[in-house]
Amino acid sequence: MKTIQHLIDGVTSPSTSGRTTGVFNPATGAQTGELALASVEEVDAAVESAQAAFETWGKTSIATRTKLMYKFRNLVLENVDELAALLTAEHGKVLSDSAGEIARGIENIEYACGIAEMLKGSYNESASTGVDVYTVRQPLGVVTGITPFNFPMMVPLWMIPNAVASGNTFVLKPSERDPSAPLFMAELFQQAGFPAGVLNVVQGDKVAVDRLLEHPDVKAASFVGSTPIAKYVQERATANGKRVQALGGAKNHMVVLPDADIDLAADAAVSAAYGSAGERCMAISVVAVVGAVADPLVDAIKVRMEKLTIGDGTNADSEMGPLITAEARDRVAGFIGSAVDQGADVVVDGRDHNFDNDGYFIGVSLIDNVTTTMDCYTNEIFGPVLSVVRCDSYQEGVDLIKNNPWGNGAAIFTQNGGAARQFQEDADAGMVGINVPVPVPVGYHSFGGWKDSLFGDTTMYGPEGIRFYTRAKVITSRWPDPAQSRVDLGFPTNH
Ligand code: NAD
Repeated sequence: MKTIQHLIDGVTSPSTSGRTTGVFNPATGAQTGELALASVEEVDAAVESAQAAFETWGKTSIATRTKLMYKFRNLVLENVDELAALLTAEHGKVLSDSAGEIARGIENIEYACGIAEMLKGSYNESASTGVDVYTVRQPLGVVTGITPFNFPMMVPLWMIPNAVASGNTFVLKPSERDPSAPLFMAELFQQAGFPAGVLNVVQGDKVAVDRLLEHPDVKAASFVGSTPIAKYVQERATANGKRVQALGGAKNHMVVLPDADIDLAADAAVSAAYGSAGERCMAISVVAVVGAVADPLVDAIKVRMEKLTIGDGTNADSEMGPLITAEARDRVAGFIGSAVDQGADVVVDGRDHNFDNDGYFIGVSLIDNVTTTMDCYTNEIFGPVLSVVRCDSYQEGVDLIKNNPWGNGAAIFTQNGGAARQFQEDADAGMVGINVPVPVPVGYHSFGGWKDSLFGDTTMYGPEGIRFYTRAKVITSRWPDPAQSRVDLGFPTNH
């Protein structure tokens, strides 16, 4: 069994805290690693290293920062297979999903390679006679990222490239469930030639998070995880005077209008609800079907579900893997049970799918005739369960989204451009898909929801990410007319 450590000041640091936790392969239930859990002193050592590195990194030229970022990008690309294998072994998602997650992460490294363009600032000549005013953006110092289990590679890459390219140094606290892939990624970052201390990794739990949120040298915190912890992180970090962006949970709706292409909508619903076992903050959790299209859509989804292959993520034919823990699996099963008790129609019951192994597997579920008071509707299930809410009108579908406390993503399926355009205006969510079920923005836009899906100052990555990791400085300069110089500079007096 391997021991998983911190990376502090450029070296793998054996833990001194004496606290550890197990890391498991969700496909087998076997423990594969023992993870160090950082003490306050270990977090302090990581922040101290980052603070020392900032003194020079913050002043390093844009050209050097960009060159190193390109090298890092190439190293991640060259090691995709190894990273994906580490990721699947601890998360459980199928290998193609792991590779896809890494590809979405690389988009953010590529965006950060263009940092020169993003840090150009702005300039007004002659705001007054002889007076120019200009704005530059400067790094903050040490920043931290606290990340969830469900995207152990992509979410750290939403943060690190933009933060570091902007001149900050970074302390990453990955999820304790699947820490090996982000740790290996940090080793590749070292290999790319970034100076020691520019990126540190502390493994840990609440002890590490709390220390990062109170440490006076940490200037900003980026968080992605569940809504209660996002709220907590925002409150605690703000109270300690830090900038915060904290992304929380979700309950994403897909509205299907009567004119939608049923096959397209059913394919989309199945991949968006059951991909990565539903453990995606942009997973579709509710289909709001308008009118008579409901019956054929439910049938089309059911047919597709029966063809899904569920198994160990390392098997080439698996399309869906296990859940992250046995507790997560049992929680999902509980929601299906509650739906039966509360009068919904369970069209496909994932609990009936038998698996002859000790992994944390559950089958896919489809629940029809769900109402907004049922537990399966009011909670973020975070598993392979799709609820169908039948609506009489477009407005009813839009109101469901409006009245839901979360507002991460929302999608519409229709062939009517006018309806799609109206939805884009009406949808009470931060990211909207039109005939696209999982509208995760590309790296050069920014990612973030509304309402209980986002707390803090900005959304993440893209232009908002650069704004978050930099602060503006406005310079007002006055230079006298060179013709008035006491030394004759050769200027005509009336130039
Ligand atoms: P989580 O909130 O349990 O954990 C996230 C991070 O917070 C981890 O690093 C964990 O160690 C830390 N943490 C957990 N409990 C803590 C506590 N009491 N005090 C301080 N730190 C604590 O989330 P998770 O289970 O790892 O991830 C799944 C959740 O993340 C889902 O709710 C999902 O919707 C959400 N998520 C949201 C987005 C988004 O962009 N909005 C993206 C991915 C995941």
